[in-house]
Amino acid sequence: MAGKVYLVGAGPGDPELLTLKALRVLRAADVVLHDELVRPQILSLVPSSAQIHNVGKRCGRKSATQAEINALLVNYGLLDLQVVRLKGGDPLIFGRGGEEIEALRKANLDVEVIPGVTAALGAAAAAQIPLTHRGLSSSLIFITNHHSSAATTSDWPASISPTATVVVYMPGYAYAATAHQLVAAGLKASTPCAIISQATRSEEKVYITTIEELRSAPRLAAPTLLIVGEVVRLAEYPSLHDQVLTRIEEFLPLVAQLESFAQSQGITEVSERPE
Ligand code: SAH
Repeated sequence: MAGKVYLVGAGPGDPELLTLKALRVLRAADVVLHDELVRPQILSLVPSSAQIHNVGKRCGRKSATQAEINALLVNYGLLDLQVVRLKGGDPLIFGRGGEEIEALRKANLDVEVIPGVTAALGAAAAAQIPLTHRGLSSSLIFITNHHSSAATTSDWPASISPTATVVVYMPGYAYAATAHQLVAAGLKASTPCAIISQATRSEEKVYITTIEELRSAPRLAAPTLLIVGEVVRLAEYPSLHDQVLTRIEEFLPLVAQLESFAQSQGITEVSERPE
């Protein structure tokens, strides 16, 4: 008897943003095929008896091709197993979920999609940016910059309304080119934008700028998302100082552990380095 394949959204990072349904399905999984974006804290919810495959892509390391992933899903699906295809954010947003569904349908396999909190929503929440706001933004555009370096400029809309909020997935670091595309689509150079790095994770960072200043923005750690539009003016986020402090606080338990280890070894003082 063939099993069922679940396409599950893991959300943007914080395990608490996983849906109850996703959690239930993960806890009963026999096989999990996940992307690079899925965090270890979420994978730790999978039973230890389940097989876990990382089929994600990461620069410089060979990863499974989409055809290989489809074949794996179909082969596992044909066994009597609960198969979970776990993707960052929502499985049907810039995640090639549609191609996987097609392959599974062709093989007459049962598919169920469990939505997840897409990165745009996690990032907007992180910086308290209302993606729509009466009088400022009445439409929302999700776009990917992924192919912009390969001269597929047609991926960008020819014109973007100044009352739209634009969320750029996979913005990369070619900020000058992105700024050029946004202005070419009709946005004012003074339009505010936010770069949100590692949204909903403890390492989360927010950097606010404008389209014209985007070229000098720092290269925050991936994954990052770019939000562009007048609504970015309403952002509220911790100061860079507090963002750094939070990171330091995360290391304090480690320091305490090192101290107690040192004590257990009879090391009570670290001597100064001799002159
Ligand atoms: N299906 C996913 C998107 C996959 S594309 C979703 O719905 O969220 C991968 C891109 O998503 C990354 O390059 C980045 O732009 C964005 N992304 C994913 N998680 C993110 C996070 N925690 N913070 C910022 N951007 C994130």
